[in-house]
Amino acid sequence: MFDKILIANRGEIALRVIRACREMGIASVAVHSTADADAMHVRMADESICIGPPSSALSYLSMPALISACEITGAQAIHPGYGFLSENAGFVQMLEDHDITFIGPRAEHIRIMGDKITAKDTMKALGVPCVPGSEGGVNDVDEAFRVAAEIGYPVIVKATAGGGGRGMKVALDETGLDVAFRSARAEAKAAFGNPDVYLEKYLQRPRHIEIQVFGDGKGRAVHLGERDCSLQRRHQKVLEEAPGPAITPEQRARIGKVCADAVAKIGYSGAGTIEFLFEDGEFYFIEMNTRLQVEHPVTEAIFGVDLVRQQIRVAAGLPMEFHQEDLVINGHSIEVRINAEKVPGFSPCPGRITQYHAPGGLGVRMDSALYQGYAIPPYYDSLIGKLIVHGRDRDEALARLSRALGELIVDGVDTTVPLFRDLLAEPDIQSGNYSIHWLERWLAQHY
Ligand code: ADP
Repeated sequence: MFDKILIANRGEIALRVIRACREMGIASVAVHSTADADAMHVRMADESICIGPPSSALSYLSMPALISACEITGAQAIHPGYGFLSENAGFVQMLEDHDITFIGPRAEHIRIMGDKITAKDTMKALGVPCVPGSEGGVNDVDEAFRVAAEIGYPVIVKATAGGGGRGMKVALDETGLDVAFRSARAEAKAAFGNPDVYLEKYLQRPRHIEIQVFGDGKGRAVHLGERDCSLQRRHQKVLEEAPGPAITPEQRARIGKVCADAVAKIGYSGAGTIEFLFEDGEFYFIEMNTRLQVEHPVTEAIFGVDLVRQQIRVAAGLPMEFHQEDLVINGHSIEVRINAEKVPGFSPCPGRITQYHAPGGLGVRMDSALYQGYAIPPYYDSLIGKLIVHGRDRDEALARLSRALGELIVDGVDTTVPLFRDLLAEPDIQSGNYSIHWLERWLAQHY
Protein backbone atom coordinates (compact mmCIF):
# COMPACT_ATOMS: atom_id res chain seq x y z
CA MET A 1 0.00 0.00 0.00
CA PHE A 2 1.06 3.59 -0.63
CA ASP A 3 2.43 5.68 2.27
CA LYS A 4 1.47 8.98 0.71
CA ILE A 5 -1.00 10.12 -1.96
CA LEU A 6 -1.16 13.49 -3.68
CA ILE A 7 -4.60 14.77 -4.60
CA ALA A 8 -4.56 16.70 -7.87
CA ASN A 9 -7.82 18.51 -7.23
CA ARG A 10 -9.65 20.96 -4.97
CA GLY A 11 -13.03 21.47 -3.33
CA GLU A 12 -15.31 18.75 -2.04
CA ILE A 13 -13.72 15.95 -4.07
CA ALA A 14 -10.28 16.68 -2.60
CA LEU A 15 -11.82 16.34 0.88
CA ARG A 16 -13.51 13.13 -0.20
CA VAL A 17 -10.16 11.58 -1.17
CA ILE A 18 -8.35 12.90 1.94
CA ARG A 19 -11.02 11.22 4.10
CA ALA A 20 -10.49 7.84 2.42
CA CYS A 21 -6.72 8.19 2.78
CA ARG A 22 -7.01 8.97 6.47
CA GLU A 23 -9.19 5.93 7.13
CA MET A 24 -6.64 3.78 5.32
CA GLY A 25 -3.68 5.22 7.25
CA ILE A 26 -2.23 6.90 4.16
CA ALA A 27 -0.74 10.41 4.37
CA SER A 28 -2.32 12.97 2.03
CA VAL A 29 -0.80 15.88 0.12
CA ALA A 30 -3.02 18.76 -1.00
CA VAL A 31 -1.99 20.95 -3.92
CA HIS A 32 -3.38 24.42 -4.38
CA SER A 33 -3.23 27.56 -6.43
CA THR A 34 -2.46 30.89 -4.76
CA ALA A 35 -6.21 31.62 -4.85
CA ASP A 36 -6.86 28.50 -2.76
CA ALA A 37 -4.31 29.07 0.03
CA ASP A 38 -7.17 29.22 2.58
CA ALA A 39 -9.20 26.39 1.10
CA MET A 40 -10.47 23.54 3.27
CA HIS A 41 -8.59 20.82 1.38
CA VAL A 42 -5.34 22.60 2.21
CA ARG A 43 -6.27 22.71 5.90
CA MET A 44 -7.44 19.13 6.03
CA ALA A 45 -4.56 17.36 4.26
CA ASP A 46 -1.45 16.22 6.12
CA GLU A 47 0.73 18.39 3.88
CA SER A 48 0.11 21.03 1.26
CA ILE A 49 2.04 22.58 -1.55
CA CYS A 50 1.37 25.59 -3.77
CA ILE A 51 1.57 24.70 -7.45
CA GLY A 52 0.85 27.97 -9.22
CA PRO A 53 -1.31 31.05 -9.81
CA PRO A 54 -5.15 31.08 -9.83
CA SER A 55 -5.61 30.07 -13.46
CA SER A 56 -6.30 26.29 -13.62
CA ALA A 57 -4.11 25.99 -16.71
CA LEU A 58 -1.13 27.14 -14.64
CA SER A 59 -1.94 25.21 -11.45
CA TYR A 60 -4.39 22.28 -11.24
CA LEU A 61 -3.74 21.42 -14.90
CA SER A 62 0.02 21.91 -14.76
CA MET A 63 1.56 18.46 -15.19
CA PRO A 64 5.17 19.51 -14.44
CA ALA A 65 4.04 21.30 -11.26
CA LEU A 66 2.16 18.20 -10.08
CA ILE A 67 5.07 15.88 -10.80
CA SER A 68 7.45 18.24 -8.98
CA ALA A 69 5.04 18.29 -6.04
CA CYS A 70 5.19 14.47 -5.90
CA GLU A 71 8.98 14.49 -6.02
CA ILE A 72 9.24 17.14 -3.28
CA THR A 73 6.76 15.48 -0.93
CA GLY A 74 7.57 11.85 -1.72
CA ALA A 75 3.99 11.04 -2.77
CA GLN A 76 3.91 7.71 -4.61
CA ALA A 77 0.51 8.08 -6.25
CA ILE A 78 -1.87 10.72 -7.55
CA HIS A 79 -5.65 10.70 -7.18
CA PRO A 80 -7.06 13.01 -9.86
CA GLY A 81 -10.65 13.39 -8.54
CA TYR A 82 -12.99 14.39 -11.38
CA GLY A 83 -12.48 17.12 -13.98
CA PHE A 84 -9.01 18.66 -14.36
CA LEU A 85 -6.56 15.87 -15.35
CA SER A 86 -8.76 12.91 -14.44
CA GLU A 87 -9.29 11.82 -18.06
CA ASN A 88 -6.03 12.94 -19.62
CA ALA A 89 -4.18 9.97 -21.12
CA GLY A 90 -1.02 12.04 -21.69
CA PHE A 91 -0.86 12.83 -17.98
CA VAL A 92 -1.16 9.14 -17.07
CA GLN A 93 1.65 8.34 -19.48
CA MET A 94 3.82 11.09 -18.00
CA LEU A 95 3.25 9.80 -14.44
CA GLU A 96 4.23 6.32 -15.54
CA ASP A 97 7.50 7.71 -16.92
CA HIS A 98 8.17 9.24 -13.49
CA ASP A 99 7.26 6.08 -11.55
CA ILE A 100 4.22 7.69 -9.99
CA THR A 101 1.03 5.60 -9.82
CA PHE A 102 -2.13 7.09 -11.32
CA ILE A 103 -5.18 6.11 -9.28
CA GLY A 104 -7.41 5.30 -12.21
CA PRO A 105 -7.48 3.27 -15.41
CA ARG A 106 -4.67 2.73 -17.88
CA ALA A 107 -3.85 5.48 -20.40
CA GLU A 108 -5.03 3.23 -23.22
CA HIS A 109 -8.57 2.95 -21.79
CA ILE A 110 -8.80 6.67 -21.09
CA ARG A 111 -7.75 7.33 -24.70
CA ILE A 112 -10.31 4.94 -26.20
CA MET A 113 -13.23 6.27 -24.16
CA GLY A 114 -12.14 9.91 -24.53
CA ASP A 115 -12.89 9.74 -28.23
CA LYS A 116 -16.60 9.08 -28.47
CA ILE A 117 -16.53 7.53 -31.94
CA THR A 118 -13.83 5.04 -30.89
CA ALA A 119 -15.66 4.47 -27.60
CA LYS A 120 -18.88 3.61 -29.42
CA ASP A 121 -17.11 1.29 -31.86
CA THR A 122 -15.36 -0.46 -28.96
CA MET A 123 -18.55 -0.85 -26.93
CA LYS A 124 -20.50 -2.11 -29.91
CA ALA A 125 -17.85 -4.78 -30.50
CA LEU A 126 -18.12 -5.75 -26.81
CA GLY A 127 -21.86 -6.35 -27.16
CA VAL A 128 -23.09 -3.11 -25.55
CA PRO A 129 -26.25 -1.68 -27.22
CA CYS A 130 -25.72 1.79 -28.76
CA VAL A 131 -27.92 4.66 -30.00
CA PRO A 132 -28.61 4.12 -33.73
CA GLY A 133 -26.43 6.47 -35.77
CA SER A 134 -23.55 6.86 -38.18
CA GLU A 135 -20.87 4.19 -38.46
CA GLY A 136 -17.99 6.25 -37.09
CA GLY A 137 -17.49 9.88 -38.05
CA VAL A 138 -19.37 11.91 -40.64
CA ASN A 139 -17.08 13.97 -42.84
CA ASP A 140 -19.38 16.06 -45.00
CA VAL A 141 -22.91 17.32 -44.96
CA ASP A 142 -24.10 15.04 -47.79
CA GLU A 143 -23.03 12.02 -45.79
CA ALA A 144 -24.91 13.51 -42.82
CA PHE A 145 -28.07 13.81 -44.99
CA ARG A 146 -27.72 10.17 -46.08
CA VAL A 147 -27.31 8.88 -42.49
CA ALA A 148 -30.19 11.03 -41.22
CA ALA A 149 -32.51 9.79 -43.97
CA GLU A 150 -31.64 6.25 -42.92
CA ILE A 151 -32.15 6.61 -39.14
CA GLY A 152 -34.92 9.23 -39.38
CA TYR A 153 -35.22 12.73 -37.94
CA PRO A 154 -34.75 14.25 -35.41
CA VAL A 155 -31.01 13.59 -35.19
CA ILE A 156 -28.26 14.92 -32.97
CA VAL A 157 -24.80 15.91 -34.23
CA LYS A 158 -22.18 15.20 -31.56
CA ALA A 159 -18.48 16.00 -31.29
CA THR A 160 -16.24 12.97 -30.86
CA ALA A 161 -14.11 14.99 -28.42
CA GLY A 162 -17.19 16.48 -26.70
CA GLY A 163 -17.76 16.84 -22.98
CA GLY A 164 -19.69 18.92 -20.48
CA GLY A 165 -22.66 19.04 -22.84
CA ARG A 166 -20.75 21.02 -25.48
CA GLY A 167 -20.52 20.30 -29.21
CA MET A 168 -24.04 18.84 -29.50
CA LYS A 169 -26.69 20.13 -31.94
CA VAL A 170 -30.17 18.77 -32.64
CA ALA A 171 -31.68 18.85 -36.14
CA LEU A 172 -35.35 18.31 -37.00
CA ASP A 173 -34.97 18.20 -40.81
CA GLU A 174 -32.47 18.64 -43.66
CA THR A 175 -32.33 22.42 -43.39
CA GLY A 176 -31.70 22.13 -39.65
CA LEU A 177 -29.07 19.46 -40.19
CA ASP A 178 -27.15 21.68 -42.59
CA VAL A 179 -26.86 24.31 -39.86
CA ALA A 180 -26.34 21.81 -37.01
CA PHE A 181 -23.57 19.98 -38.84
CA ARG A 182 -21.58 23.15 -39.55
CA SER A 183 -22.07 24.72 -36.11
CA ALA A 184 -21.28 21.51 -34.19
CA ARG A 185 -18.03 21.16 -36.15
CA ALA A 186 -17.09 24.81 -35.57
CA GLU A 187 -17.92 24.59 -31.85
CA ALA A 188 -15.97 21.33 -31.46
CA LYS A 189 -12.94 22.75 -33.24
CA ALA A 190 -12.99 25.87 -31.05
CA ALA A 191 -13.61 24.05 -27.76
CA PHE A 192 -11.62 20.83 -28.21
CA GLY A 193 -9.32 21.45 -31.18
CA ASN A 194 -10.98 18.53 -33.00
CA PRO A 195 -13.85 19.17 -35.45
CA ASP A 196 -14.82 15.50 -35.94
CA VAL A 197 -18.52 14.81 -35.41
CA TYR A 198 -20.90 11.85 -35.66
CA LEU A 199 -24.65 11.46 -35.91
CA GLU A 200 -27.17 9.82 -33.59
CA LYS A 201 -30.89 9.42 -33.55
CA TYR A 202 -32.23 12.08 -31.17
CA LEU A 203 -34.33 10.27 -28.58
CA GLN A 204 -37.53 12.11 -27.64
CA ARG A 205 -38.11 11.32 -23.98
CA PRO A 206 -35.32 9.10 -22.65
CA ARG A 207 -33.98 8.89 -19.15
CA HIS A 208 -30.24 9.19 -18.48
CA ILE A 209 -29.24 5.95 -16.80
CA GLU A 210 -25.61 5.21 -16.00
CA ILE A 211 -24.05 2.01 -14.76
CA GLN A 212 -21.24 2.12 -12.21
CA VAL A 213 -18.59 -0.44 -13.02
CA PHE A 214 -15.42 -1.42 -11.22
CA GLY A 215 -12.53 -3.50 -12.53
CA ASP A 216 -9.42 -4.91 -10.86
CA GLY A 217 -7.26 -4.46 -13.98
CA LYS A 218 -6.70 -8.22 -14.14
CA GLY A 219 -9.89 -9.24 -15.89
CA ARG A 220 -12.35 -9.26 -13.00
CA ALA A 221 -15.09 -6.63 -12.92
CA VAL A 222 -18.41 -5.96 -11.20
CA HIS A 223 -21.26 -3.51 -11.63
CA LEU A 224 -22.87 -1.47 -8.87
CA GLY A 225 -26.24 -0.88 -10.46
CA GLU A 226 -27.45 2.33 -11.99
CA ARG A 227 -27.90 6.00 -11.22
CA ASP A 228 -30.73 7.98 -12.78
CA CYS A 229 -29.37 11.40 -13.75
CA SER A 230 -32.25 12.56 -15.94
CA LEU A 231 -32.76 15.88 -14.19
CA GLN A 232 -30.51 18.03 -16.35
CA ARG A 233 -30.10 21.60 -17.44
CA ARG A 234 -28.15 22.17 -20.65
CA HIS A 235 -27.12 18.50 -20.63
CA GLN A 236 -25.63 18.99 -17.14
CA LYS A 237 -26.80 16.92 -14.16
CA VAL A 238 -28.61 18.66 -11.32
CA LEU A 239 -30.02 15.82 -9.17
CA GLU A 240 -29.12 12.13 -9.20
CA GLU A 241 -30.63 9.08 -7.58
CA ALA A 242 -30.03 5.37 -7.11
CA PRO A 243 -31.60 3.00 -7.78
CA GLY A 244 -33.35 4.45 -10.83
CA PRO A 245 -37.10 4.77 -10.21
CA ALA A 246 -37.89 3.39 -13.68
CA ILE A 247 -35.51 0.41 -13.71
CA THR A 248 -36.61 -3.10 -12.76
CA PRO A 249 -34.31 -5.61 -11.02
CA GLU A 250 -34.31 -7.69 -14.23
CA GLN A 251 -33.29 -4.71 -16.41
CA ARG A 252 -30.57 -3.82 -13.90
CA ALA A 253 -29.19 -7.34 -13.82
CA ARG A 254 -29.21 -7.60 -17.62
CA ILE A 255 -27.50 -4.28 -18.48
CA GLY A 256 -25.25 -4.52 -15.42
CA LYS A 257 -23.89 -7.85 -16.60
CA VAL A 258 -23.34 -6.56 -20.15
CA CYS A 259 -21.32 -3.64 -18.71
CA ALA A 260 -19.32 -5.68 -16.19
CA ASP A 261 -18.47 -8.26 -18.86
CA ALA A 262 -17.40 -5.53 -21.30
CA VAL A 263 -14.97 -3.88 -18.89
CA ALA A 264 -13.71 -7.24 -17.63
CA LYS A 265 -12.87 -8.21 -21.21
CA ILE A 266 -10.68 -5.15 -21.76
CA GLY A 267 -8.97 -5.53 -18.35
CA TYR A 268 -10.29 -2.21 -17.11
CA SER A 269 -8.90 -0.98 -13.81
CA GLY A 270 -10.74 1.04 -11.18
CA ALA A 271 -14.02 2.97 -11.28
CA GLY A 272 -15.86 3.73 -14.50
CA THR A 273 -19.31 4.81 -15.58
CA ILE A 274 -21.09 3.60 -18.68
CA GLU A 275 -23.77 6.10 -19.66
CA PHE A 276 -26.98 5.15 -21.45
CA LEU A 277 -30.16 6.73 -22.63
CA PHE A 278 -33.11 4.55 -21.61
CA GLU A 279 -36.38 4.62 -23.53
CA ASP A 280 -39.21 2.08 -23.85
CA GLY A 281 -37.32 -0.52 -21.85
CA GLU A 282 -34.17 -0.35 -24.01
CA PHE A 283 -30.69 0.92 -23.13
CA TYR A 284 -28.60 2.86 -25.65
CA PHE A 285 -24.92 3.54 -24.87
CA ILE A 286 -23.81 7.17 -25.24
CA GLU A 287 -20.40 7.39 -23.55
CA MET A 288 -18.10 6.04 -20.87
CA ASN A 289 -16.43 8.15 -18.20
CA THR A 290 -13.17 6.69 -16.97
CA ARG A 291 -13.12 8.40 -13.58
CA LEU A 292 -15.00 8.78 -10.32
CA GLN A 293 -18.23 10.68 -11.01
CA VAL A 294 -19.53 13.66 -9.04
CA GLU A 295 -22.62 11.59 -8.21
CA HIS A 296 -20.78 8.48 -6.94
CA PRO A 297 -22.06 8.91 -3.34
CA VAL A 298 -25.60 7.73 -4.18
CA THR A 299 -24.09 4.41 -5.27
CA GLU A 300 -21.94 4.28 -2.14
CA ALA A 301 -25.03 4.87 -0.02
CA ILE A 302 -27.14 2.02 -1.38
CA PHE A 303 -24.30 -0.52 -1.57
CA GLY A 304 -22.46 0.54 1.60
CA VAL A 305 -19.09 0.67 -0.17
CA ASP A 306 -16.33 3.27 -0.29
CA LEU A 307 -15.46 3.65 -3.98
CA VAL A 308 -12.37 5.79 -3.36
CA ARG A 309 -10.96 3.19 -0.99
CA GLN A 310 -11.45 0.55 -3.70
CA GLN A 311 -9.80 2.80 -6.30
CA ILE A 312 -6.75 3.19 -4.06
CA ARG A 313 -6.58 -0.56 -3.33
CA VAL A 314 -6.79 -1.56 -6.97
CA ALA A 315 -4.18 1.03 -7.97
CA ALA A 316 -1.87 -0.50 -5.35
CA GLY A 317 -2.37 -3.94 -6.90
CA LEU A 318 -4.72 -5.27 -4.20
CA PRO A 319 -8.02 -7.00 -5.01
CA MET A 320 -11.43 -5.31 -4.76
CA GLU A 321 -13.11 -6.04 -1.44
CA PHE A 322 -16.34 -7.37 -3.00
CA HIS A 323 -17.70 -9.83 -5.53
CA GLN A 324 -20.83 -9.32 -7.61
CA GLU A 325 -22.95 -11.45 -5.27
CA ASP A 326 -21.93 -9.30 -2.26
CA LEU A 327 -23.37 -6.20 -3.89
CA VAL A 328 -26.95 -5.98 -2.69
CA ILE A 329 -28.99 -2.78 -2.87
CA ASN A 330 -30.15 -1.36 0.43
CA GLY A 331 -32.72 1.45 0.25
CA HIS A 332 -32.66 4.57 -1.91
CA SER A 333 -30.33 7.55 -2.20
CA ILE A 334 -30.64 11.02 -3.76
CA GLU A 335 -27.99 13.68 -4.33
CA VAL A 336 -28.54 17.35 -5.14
CA ARG A 337 -25.76 19.52 -6.53
CA ILE A 338 -25.44 22.77 -4.64
CA ASN A 339 -23.88 25.37 -6.91
CA ALA A 340 -22.97 28.96 -6.13
CA GLU A 341 -25.24 30.25 -8.87
CA LYS A 342 -27.94 32.80 -9.23
CA VAL A 343 -31.19 31.19 -10.37
CA PRO A 344 -32.90 31.58 -12.90
CA GLY A 345 -29.91 32.46 -15.13
CA PHE A 346 -27.59 30.05 -13.30
CA SER A 347 -24.77 32.60 -13.56
CA PRO A 348 -21.86 31.85 -11.19
CA CYS A 349 -22.02 33.69 -7.91
CA PRO A 350 -18.66 33.62 -6.12
CA GLY A 351 -18.19 35.51 -2.86
CA ARG A 352 -17.77 35.20 0.89
CA ILE A 353 -19.81 32.76 2.97
CA THR A 354 -21.15 34.73 5.92
CA GLN A 355 -22.94 31.81 7.55
CA TYR A 356 -22.74 28.08 6.97
CA HIS A 357 -24.53 25.27 8.70
CA ALA A 358 -24.51 21.74 7.31
CA PRO A 359 -27.51 19.47 7.83
CA GLY A 360 -27.05 16.23 9.76
CA GLY A 361 -28.88 13.34 11.31
CA LEU A 362 -29.69 9.84 10.15
CA GLY A 363 -29.06 9.18 6.47
CA VAL A 364 -27.64 12.61 5.65
CA ARG A 365 -24.21 13.20 4.08
CA MET A 366 -22.95 16.64 3.17
CA ASP A 367 -19.83 16.65 0.97
CA SER A 368 -18.63 20.23 0.86
CA ALA A 369 -15.46 22.25 1.33
CA LEU A 370 -17.37 25.28 2.64
CA TYR A 371 -16.82 26.91 6.02
CA GLN A 372 -18.00 30.13 7.59
CA GLY A 373 -15.90 33.05 6.34
CA TYR A 374 -14.63 31.16 3.28
CA ALA A 375 -14.44 33.20 0.10
CA ILE A 376 -15.43 31.18 -2.99
CA PRO A 377 -12.90 32.18 -5.66
CA PRO A 378 -14.23 33.11 -9.13
CA TYR A 379 -11.78 30.92 -11.06
CA TYR A 380 -13.23 27.44 -10.74
CA ASP A 381 -16.34 25.30 -10.98
CA SER A 382 -19.44 26.61 -9.20
CA LEU A 383 -20.18 23.31 -7.39
CA ILE A 384 -19.82 24.09 -3.67
CA GLY A 385 -21.44 21.08 -2.12
CA LYS A 386 -23.38 17.88 -2.56
CA LEU A 387 -26.18 16.94 -0.23
CA ILE A 388 -26.75 13.20 -0.27
CA VAL A 389 -29.54 11.44 1.60
CA HIS A 390 -30.26 7.76 2.13
CA GLY A 391 -33.55 6.22 3.20
CA ARG A 392 -35.14 2.78 3.38
CA ASP A 393 -37.13 3.61 0.25
CA ARG A 394 -37.59 6.50 -2.18
CA ASP A 395 -40.31 8.19 -0.14
CA GLU A 396 -38.16 8.21 2.95
CA ALA A 397 -35.20 9.57 0.96
CA LEU A 398 -37.40 12.39 -0.40
CA ALA A 399 -38.70 13.29 3.06
CA ARG A 400 -35.16 13.25 4.40
CA LEU A 401 -33.93 15.45 1.55
CA SER A 402 -36.66 17.95 2.24
CA ARG A 403 -35.83 17.94 5.95
CA ALA A 404 -32.08 18.31 5.30
CA LEU A 405 -32.56 21.17 2.82
CA GLY A 406 -34.55 22.91 5.54
CA GLU A 407 -31.60 22.68 7.92
CA LEU A 408 -28.94 23.79 5.45
CA ILE A 409 -27.77 27.39 5.75
CA VAL A 410 -25.47 28.92 3.13
CA ASP A 411 -25.51 32.71 3.43
CA GLY A 412 -23.51 35.32 1.56
CA VAL A 413 -23.88 33.92 -1.97
CA ASP A 414 -26.78 32.78 -4.11
CA THR A 415 -27.13 29.01 -4.43
CA THR A 416 -29.31 26.39 -6.10
CA VAL A 417 -30.81 25.37 -2.73
CA PRO A 418 -34.14 27.23 -3.27
CA LEU A 419 -34.50 25.47 -6.65
CA PHE A 420 -34.42 22.06 -4.93
CA ARG A 421 -36.95 23.14 -2.33
CA ASP A 422 -39.31 24.05 -5.20
CA LEU A 423 -38.57 20.88 -7.15
CA LEU A 424 -39.41 18.64 -4.20
CA ALA A 425 -42.96 20.02 -4.20
CA GLU A 426 -43.54 18.79 -7.78
CA PRO A 427 -45.69 15.66 -8.18
CA ASP A 428 -43.49 14.40 -11.05
CA ILE A 429 -40.40 14.57 -8.85
CA GLN A 430 -42.25 12.89 -6.01
CA SER A 431 -43.33 10.06 -8.31
CA GLY A 432 -40.03 9.85 -10.22
CA ASN A 433 -41.77 10.55 -13.51
CA TYR A 434 -39.25 12.64 -15.47
CA SER A 435 -37.17 12.39 -18.64
CA ILE A 436 -34.04 14.33 -19.63
CA HIS A 437 -36.24 17.17 -20.93
CA TRP A 438 -38.42 17.58 -17.84
CA LEU A 439 -36.29 20.15 -15.97
CA GLU A 440 -35.76 22.52 -18.92
CA ARG A 441 -39.50 22.61 -19.55
CA TRP A 442 -40.27 23.13 -15.87
CA LEU A 443 -37.68 25.92 -15.59
CA ALA A 444 -39.18 27.67 -18.62
CA GLN A 445 -42.60 27.64 -16.92
CA HIS A 446 -41.62 28.45 -13.35
CA TYR A 447 -38.53 30.67 -13.47
P1 ADP B 1 -21.20 15.01 -22.63
O1 ADP B 1 -19.96 14.16 -22.75
O2 ADP B 1 -21.01 16.37 -23.22
O3 ADP B 1 -21.78 15.00 -21.25
P2 ADP B 1 -23.11 12.93 -23.49
O4 ADP B 1 -22.92 12.13 -24.72
O5 ADP B 1 -22.81 12.25 -22.19
O6 ADP B 1 -22.28 14.31 -23.61
O7 ADP B 1 -24.60 13.48 -23.45
C1 ADP B 1 -25.03 14.36 -22.44
C2 ADP B 1 -26.52 14.49 -22.44
O8 ADP B 1 -27.00 14.95 -23.73
C3 ADP B 1 -27.29 13.20 -22.18
O9 ADP B 1 -27.41 12.89 -20.81
C4 ADP B 1 -28.62 13.54 -22.83
O10 ADP B 1 -29.36 14.40 -21.98
C5 ADP B 1 -28.24 14.34 -24.07
N1 ADP B 1 -28.08 13.45 -25.25
C6 ADP B 1 -26.92 12.92 -25.73
N2 ADP B 1 -27.16 12.12 -26.82
C7 ADP B 1 -28.49 12.14 -27.04
C8 ADP B 1 -29.38 11.51 -28.00
N3 ADP B 1 -28.93 10.69 -28.96
N4 ADP B 1 -30.71 11.77 -27.91
C9 ADP B 1 -31.19 12.59 -26.94
N5 ADP B 1 -30.42 13.23 -26.02
C10 ADP B 1 -29.08 13.01 -26.04
